[in-house]
Amino acid sequence: MKTSKTSETYKSLKSDLLNGHFAPGAQMRIDAISKSLDVSVGAVREALSRLTSDGIVQNVPQKGFVVAPVSPDDLKDLTSVRIDIENRCLDLAIRKGDLAWEGRILSSYHRLSKTKLETDRKQHTYNPDWTAVHDEFHDSLIAACGSRWLLKLRDIMYIQAERYRRMAAPYVVERRNVDAEHKAIMEATLDRNSTLARKLLARHLETTAEIVLKCGFLVGDPVDQQLQKRGRPRVEDRQAR
Ligand SMILES: [Zn+2]
Repeated sequence: MKTSKTSETYKSLKSDLLNGHFAPGAQMRIDAISKSLDVSVGAVREALSRLTSDGIVQNVPQKGFVVAPVSPDDLKDLTSVRIDIENRCLDLAIRKGDLAWEGRILSSYHRLSKTKLETDRKQHTYNPDWTAVHDEFHDSLIAACGSRWLLKLRDIMYIQAERYRRMAAPYVVERRNVDAEHKAIMEATLDRNSTLARKLLARHLETTAEIVLKCGFLVGDPVDQQLQKRGRPRVEDRQAR
């Protein structure tokens, strides 16, 4: 099996999962995915195993690979642990970061502030370019933390939170000045004011979680029904892509 095929399959499935093309709890049918992506069953299996390590997919006995479920309690737990880890990384980065670290933060913030958040304001469709520079901005803040394990844990939780954020996008009605939030976090970080930077980062992450919880799509109607109401393709249709 070619490693590049597995890698491409992994990236493609990860992007689809993060963008909600497969509903939480849905079965990831290896044969169907292999046909729709025109890759071998082995490449799909390997990609799904990697996605299991990322925590986006679960390997359930007797059932096979399923999309990791989502719930309000999971999001609250995730946010609380994520704040602890992100803030620990940020505190270490503020202590250890050098000029190159400062430069990376400045340049990624500059690009973020110049990139449009949404491609369609009415549909609340996130601009993929904004998502990429947003990832880069948050990565840059903690890049100098110096702990491989903390960064690994942080990445796992970042992906999970990103999944909730993107799933909630079509339901978000609340407006926030996210650019002002990022600017304040950047300034406190570059001032080496760890207490303030950590407080602002925690508030930033809590606000995102609060907005996702307020959307209400995690309770009541199953996610797929909500997606159908908004004219999104059904799970089966999406799986058959
Ligand atoms: Zn952010």
